[in-house]
Amino acid sequence: MKKMTNFLPLVEQFHSLQGEGYHAGKSAFFIRLAGCKVGCSWCDTKHSWDEKKYPSISIEKIIDHIIIARDKGATFCVITGGEPLQHNLDNLCNAIKQIKIGEKQNSMKIHIETSGVDSLSGRYDWITLSPKRHSPPRNYFLKNCNEIKIIINELADIKFAIQIKKEIFKQCQISKVEDSLKKEDKIFYLQPAWNNKDGFSLAIDFVKNNPDWKLSLQTQKYLKIK
Ligand code: SF4
Repeated sequence: MKKMTNFLPLVEQFHSLQGEGYHAGKSAFFIRLAGCKVGCSWCDTKHSWDEKKYPSISIEKIIDHIIIARDKGATFCVITGGEPLQHNLDNLCNAIKQIKIGEKQNSMKIHIETSGVDSLSGRYDWITLSPKRHSPPRNYFLKNCNEIKIIINELADIKFAIQIKKEIFKQCQISKVEDSLKKEDKIFYLQPAWNNKDGFSLAIDFVKNNPDWKLSLQTQKYLKIK
């Protein structure tokens, strides 16, 4: 079990629009943590892999920035990386949940984007699982994720997507997942790797013929925003 911490290695934090997946287009605050041992050859955030390159920032300071973004309209935080679950996120999530939002004073929502290889820490309102062929996810994430995002570079990734979906259905059946996390509620996305023509045509062709899958695009890259 990873040690609880009040400091986390931070690559960047910023207020923007969620660019990908189900929540695309919504105002969000992003916390990009450093550190990833998964080592995808096509990774577009390789700069985040080595956590020693980045300062350890106190959770208190991160919270100050979230409050500023909340006051401007961000309704949820996205914790991403690197692989954010390489760190113990219990304290960060507990602190974010203290931030009240809206007239009903609900808690700030927390989303996480993970490859699912590390054990869970923290608590989340939305889990985006982006599993990797060479480093399969833990069963917890197969059962409890809200959306699945498979990055498509080549044909083998399509085969992997089909296999992951079967595995998710199997895990959900085994554990009789609660209503709120029913397998039918999960959203399955193929996301072509940026700047990969083969990835785009493979993903588009597959989604055209398999309507239970959707296409996810990195709209932030088209819009040239963070
Ligand atoms: S898991 Fe994500 S951050 Fe880590 S190497 Fe793969 S794509 Fe990059």
